[in-house]
Amino acid sequence: MNQSGVHKKKPRIRNRQKNKINQVHQDQEENSLKGDVVQVDIAPKSDNAEPKIIQKVNVSQVEGPLKTDCPQLKSPPKSGNSQVEMPPKSDHSQVENPQENETIRLIQLLLRRKLLAKNKAAAISEAEPVNNQAKIVTQLKETNAEERKPKVPSTSQTPKTPAESKTPGKPLKDVKADEMDELLKCLGSKLQKGGGESPAAALFSNLGKLFSQAPPSDVESSDEEAEEYVEYIYKPRQYFMASLCNFCKADLCGQTRIPCSRCGLSYYCSGGHMKDDQEHRQMCFALRRTVERNGHEMFYKCGDFSGEQFRSYRIVCIRQVEKEMNRPLSATEQELLLFPMICSERKCREHRFKSLSICGGCGEWAFCKDKPGHRSKEHAKWCGAYQLFKAFIMFQANFGRMEPSLPNKVLSELPMACSSTKHMMKKLNFNVTNECEYAALTQVSTGPLTAWFALKLCERLRDCEELTLHLIGAEIEFEVDMLQKWELFLLHIMPTVNTLNVVFIGPELNPNNISFEQLKKIKCCRLCRKAQRTVNYHFENGLYHDYCKEPHFLQPNLVCFFNSGLYRSTGFALEDTWPDTIQAALNIKCPIVVTSYTKYEAPLDMVHFINQSNRHLNVVLPPTTNPFSSEKPERNFISDDETPFMFKNFYCFVVE
Ligand SMILES: [Zn+2]
Ligand SMILES: [Zn+2]
Ligand SMILES: [Zn+2]
Ligand SMILES: [Zn+2]
Ligand SMILES: [Zn+2]
Repeated sequence: MNQSGVHKKKPRIRNRQKNKINQVHQDQEENSLKGDVVQVDIAPKSDNAEPKIIQKVNVSQVEGPLKTDCPQLKSPPKSGNSQVEMPPKSDHSQVENPQENETIRLIQLLLRRKLLAKNKAAAISEAEPVNNQAKIVTQLKETNAEERKPKVPSTSQTPKTPAESKTPGKPLKDVKADEMDELLKCLGSKLQKGGGESPAAALFSNLGKLFSQAPPSDVESSDEEAEEYVEYIYKPRQYFMASLCNFCKADLCGQTRIPCSRCGLSYYCSGGHMKDDQEHRQMCFALRRTVERNGHEMFYKCGDFSGEQFRSYRIVCIRQVEKEMNRPLSATEQELLLFPMICSERKCREHRFKSLSICGGCGEWAFCKDKPGHRSKEHAKWCGAYQLFKAFIMFQANFGRMEPSLPNKVLSELPMACSSTKHMMKKLNFNVTNECEYAALTQVSTGPLTAWFALKLCERLRDCEELTLHLIGAEIEFEVDMLQKWELFLLHIMPTVNTLNVVFIGPELNPNNISFEQLKKIKCCRLCRKAQRTVNYHFENGLYHDYCKEPHFLQPNLVCFFNSGLYRSTGFALEDTWPDTIQAALNIKCPIVVTSYTKYEAPLDMVHFINQSNRHLNVVLPPTTNPFSSEKPERNFISDDETPFMFKNFYCFVVE
């Protein structure tokens, strides 16, 4: 879509990858249910510049075929996208033909059958566990509470083998199959007889097709052969920000801001929204009770604390409130206590809203009104990050996860001169002007491009036909997310490579609601397939040093530790497994790249690495800002007095 370099003015809401490779996967189980959810693209036809809102429409919302004013029927189908061509809006009164009435009855019956099957299926899919577990214990991560729900895949034109289709949808099908067949036959004959040119007839005919043919889908007209589409929906969670109305999420920067009259910790655009915020109520009462019990306001006299003490204090507050509520706080609720609006001067931390002046740039940062000295110049460095972070939150609250479009240019020469993400995008004829979308793009590209950068530094880019990467401590939400990035940002920029093996290794690679088998089937783009180039994905749900002993171990060209926080001695399940893992990686004797979220962590990680080494390590790159890091800000709690935001792969070092 953007390959021509034409930039878009507005970000797309959910990018449907036209370049095929496509979105992450889905379980076979849901595959069998695919006919039951119709996705309707209500974007204006052929206007890529406008945000597209892809709305999931349940069949259950269609009450009957006559309701042609249903939004999903009104919107023009994308060309080639659907087999259903809707006639002009038809009125009930137009349907006078008894023949047609009979047909309507049949269609309604069919819809009901479909709906029944659908509801059962939905009940099954909802019963599945949702994997929300993120890796980091102390750190607040966006993925922490991100709700990931497996979703019905948009289409899979590849016929399934009987072995592949699992049971949940099947019995329903069997039970109802005969009945459905009968109805369809009957409908078929009605349609033949009652044909005619009336809009209603056209509608019936189309509905007939809808039932008798392939399941409806929202897939782009396929200009290539059948592909398996794999999709994974991330439902971003709600975030608390002091500069957003806690009810409507309107930006309060520069606006009147009304603190909650009871707890004073959430903020609103109006008294009405304060009253309307039912969701806040339970926590609000608990906050009040905690304050009464403590005998002082939540953030009273916090100026005495060091950065570390203040972090601990906020955790204690969370525990107190949880005790009061008799349940754990959600990630969003915790943020109310983790990121309160207080004076940013560490020695002050004034909490009384009336005494505070707020930054007009971001609305997230405050200082004492009557103490100009409490306004530090430091903030200028971060104000932009606050704004970008807020832009993300607001976008996601309105449209769901921001997914950038991706380049698909295949380079014929190594882009040796490219020394930053910006350069590389230019080389790939890819231009994204929206700041949020660009940041999201860097989040996607940073993994493969950082690996490329490390290989370049170690002079391992040339004459390499088969390339194997080990991604240690990989996470579904980061390294595995948008899997095609490994092809687009690595295979496509390394002309000599024919086979790229990406091995994801980690005990936290949680296969609960993701089928690795399905992920492995994701194919390369047409150009790569034509040139017989492939990317193989391997998933090792265990510890690295164990994988190294496996017979199917693949010798790597590069080992990557992305954002692994080696220096923190609590690894998986509170047991420090890093020393063994580092040993194993060092024994392989290939380049190793280690990245970290912050400047502060990188040298600590490196010390940890050197301490574990029993051989001479060649430091190819000492801890340095990574020119291919992510630019998407993530709120930082673990060292918030140093940096309020952190970025994936921000710092890196390379050893050999
Ligand atoms: Zn509001
Ligand atoms: Zn409140
Ligand atoms: Zn600011
Ligand atoms: Zn102050
Ligand atoms: Zn390709």
